[in-house]
Amino acid sequence: MDNKTLTGKIYDIQGFSVQDGPGIRTTVFLKGCPLRCPWCHSPESQRFETELNWMDIRCIGVDECGKCLDVCPHGCITRGPATQNAAGEAITYPVVDKTKCDECGLCAKACKATALYMCGKDTTIDEVMRRIKHDRPFFENSGGGVTVSGGECLSQPEFTIELLRQCHELGIHTAVDTTGFVQWNVIEKALPYTSLFLYDLKCMDSALHKQVIGVPNELILENARKIAEAGGKLWIRIPTMPMFNESEEAYRVVGEFLTPIKDAVVMVQLLPYHKMGVSKYARLLRKQQVFVAEPPSEELMNARKTQLEAMGFPVRVH
Ligand code: SF4
Ligand code: SF4
Repeated sequence: MDNKTLTGKIYDIQGFSVQDGPGIRTTVFLKGCPLRCPWCHSPESQRFETELNWMDIRCIGVDECGKCLDVCPHGCITRGPATQNAAGEAITYPVVDKTKCDECGLCAKACKATALYMCGKDTTIDEVMRRIKHDRPFFENSGGGVTVSGGECLSQPEFTIELLRQCHELGIHTAVDTTGFVQWNVIEKALPYTSLFLYDLKCMDSALHKQVIGVPNELILENARKIAEAGGKLWIRIPTMPMFNESEEAYRVVGEFLTPIKDAVVMVQLLPYHKMGVSKYARLLRKQQVFVAEPPSEELMNARKTQLEAMGFPVRVH
């Protein structure tokens, strides 16, 4: 496959990102993830398929418009109950029965307000590289680059590795944002073109990891060790979750795991849980349990930062 036919299933490309590695970056978000973190901030990334999403705030109502009701070939869309919009005005929204939907996208095409929209687009390497080349001056002035993220971007290995290779060839700093739950042979192929791995460590207890996230952690820990041994650089990210991994003991075990590979660890970033992703679940039009809790306090986050710094790691919160 060449640049014009090799595609990745992409759900967003964000420029001016300062959260996904050093400097100003362009982050390419790929769809699909083998993990199911209950606190996931991008639930639209979880499934590998393109899917219909919904944002009520954009809808002008079925009485004003109603185009989506007319086009669905399976009769999935009906009038909902009368309600109020965010401004307190009377409105009737459409209701989508996702159990009958085959994601054909006709309603999204008909919805000029983009209240209904498809998430996930097959995008060629050429298309992504055009965007990256456009953003390139911002990388050069800030020490930034390109981050390939997800979902789990290495679940689309051919596309991700080719994208990294082309960026690397242009001298652009590349970061891979990964869960680490990937076969080693894929990481090994990505390594020569990856300046930095943004690497999540969520829980050191494999049974608990499996119970909460759906997969065990042995592969993730093994891959972190192998990346370090192979000379790769790790920017460790710890999403810090109430009642899961926030304890002093949990952080002690993380620190002990990282100590033998300290030379490879350029940063440990602590990411306190926040509720900002919760509203996204309603957009998915499917029943999915949402995890909601109180965020960890600033005091707790600073204590965990100090704890890891005392073990010799560079640490930042957020
Ligand atoms: S995407 Fe689903 S709801 Fe929309 S028109 Fe197609 S089948 Fe109907
Ligand atoms: S087509 Fe879009 S704006 Fe019109 S009623 Fe349907 S969802 Fe709302």
